[in-house]
Amino acid sequence: MKNRFSSRELFKLRNNIAVDMLIRDQLQIPSKIRDGYFRFLCPLCNEFQTAVNPATNLARCFRCEKNFNTIDLVMEIMGYGFRDSVLFLKQINTASQVPAAKLTALAAAIGKSMSGG
Ligand SMILES: [Zn+2]
Repeated sequence: MKNRFSSRELFKLRNNIAVDMLIRDQLQIPSKIRDGYFRFLCPLCNEFQTAVNPATNLARCFRCEKNFNTIDLVMEIMGYGFRDSVLFLKQINTASQVPAAKLTALAAAIGKSMSGG
């Protein structure tokens, strides 16, 4: 079985799957809407000082000053390694495809702010 995933494949998993949906429906992390923002219980500090950014599809904890992408979250919550987390997300992704046009727009937006990591 292959261990390596292409960067394109990983990019899709980090962006095709809405991070708030992943938190609420798939990982079932306690979450709530407060002040109009989606908040989730930070897996590191167990506080709700969090938000998600739909533009970057990242979840952030302001207390830990840490961003989580979809893969990071699965690793933290499920205790999976990187490879198993990717496989977990691939299953979800197959079930919820985002139209290609939206993904292209998202990719352009992220490309501007990406510094290679
Ligand atoms: Zn935290």
